[in-house]
Amino acid sequence: MAGADYSDGGHGFAEVDLEVITRFKLGVRLEPSSVTARLLSAVDRVAANSPFDLWVTSAAEAHPAGDVHTLGNALDLRTHDFEDEQKRDVLRAILWELADEPPDDVSTLNNAWLALETDDWFAMLEDYKGNNEHLHVQLRHGAIFE
Ligand SMILES: [Zn+2]
Repeated sequence: MAGADYSDGGHGFAEVDLEVITRFKLGVRLEPSSVTARLLSAVDRVAANSPFDLWVTSAAEAHPAGDVHTLGNALDLRTHDFEDEQKRDVLRAILWELADEPPDDVSTLNNAWLALETDDWFAMLEDYKGNNEHLHVQLRHGAIFE
């Protein structure tokens, strides 16, 4: 090989699809933990199969000590551009990716418009139709991540 071909603009990955699928709001701080990696991987796979990008709006920053966010065990995702049906589909798909099994609907139990769980993961739509509406996804309290 004669070396890298930079005719594509310099990144050297001309044949790779560089479409961004998971995006991050400015200020989001990721905890370097295996749970964070697992969460991001699931979000990324769902985004890859969605007609829209997914935005991480909060991770480990701006939450109290001991909170699932601070521990690197939770992510929030933007929803205000989504139809209700898409909110449901995205949340369900992410939990399914995380657990490798379909989640149970626990909305009534959590008094929420939308809440889903598996043995190890929990997710809900917070502040439905409010200014702070977002999808919250977390490792369940007490779950051992392997
Ligand atoms: Zn959250």
